[in-house]
Amino acid sequence: MGIIKLHDKYFKPFISSAEIDSAVRRLAQSVNADMPGEVPVFIAILNGAFMFAADFMKAYPEDCEISFVKLASYSGMASTGAVKQLVGLDESLEGRTVVVLEDIVDTGNTLVEIHRIFSGMKVKSLKIATLFYKPEAYKQQLNIDYIGLELPDKFIVGYGLDYDGLGRNLPEVYQLKEKDMINLVLFGKPGAGKGTQAT
Ligand code: 5GP
Ligand code: MG
Ligand code: MG
Repeated sequence: MGIIKLHDKYFKPFISSAEIDSAVRRLAQSVNADMPGEVPVFIAILNGAFMFAADFMKAYPEDCEISFVKLASYSGMASTGAVKQLVGLDESLEGRTVVVLEDIVDTGNTLVEIHRIFSGMKVKSLKIATLFYKPEAYKQQLNIDYIGLELPDKFIVGYGLDYDGLGRNLPEVYQLKEKDMINLVLFGKPGAGKGTQAT
């Protein structure tokens, strides 16, 4: 694990696959402990949550189902504010115990859209589980039931999360390396400048 480049940006190792793995297992155990006797339907929010959803389901110790919704709000590295539903649900969730699986909650705009989608569906219960959460960026009041890891408000990639399509395949999480981008421009290589600080 070293510094990587995706498109025009540099990223540094931030969360190891072992840390991700234990956060995912913890989440699966907590969700399961809260719903004895239930067969929950997990709804993974594509694209970003596909890897989390797969590992979460493998760690879930009892009967469960999964389905997918495709939403998009990000363009490049900023939330656009407008969340689009690109692929919807094709089955009834009436009376079901639903747990939404999100890769990351940032501004919370996507969560609002998720609640809107489920509001007319007569589900028995709706819980939200997110692997990552950026509390400083969160602008909504909606409760997040299960949080894997809280992160600073910096752009990350890996483990399903992308920068303009790239980086989803990385088994660990990387954080945007802003200082070294400046050094790269000024001195021709990452970490070369006088002003370089350990970050
Ligand atoms: P929100 O609607 O809460 O602002 O953002 C939710 C979605 O934006 C996430 O599900 C994810 O797809 C994307 N997103 C938010 N923060 C990041 C980030 O740091 N890196 C990447 N790659 N995507 C993010
Ligand atoms: Mg997402
Ligand atoms: Mg994205």
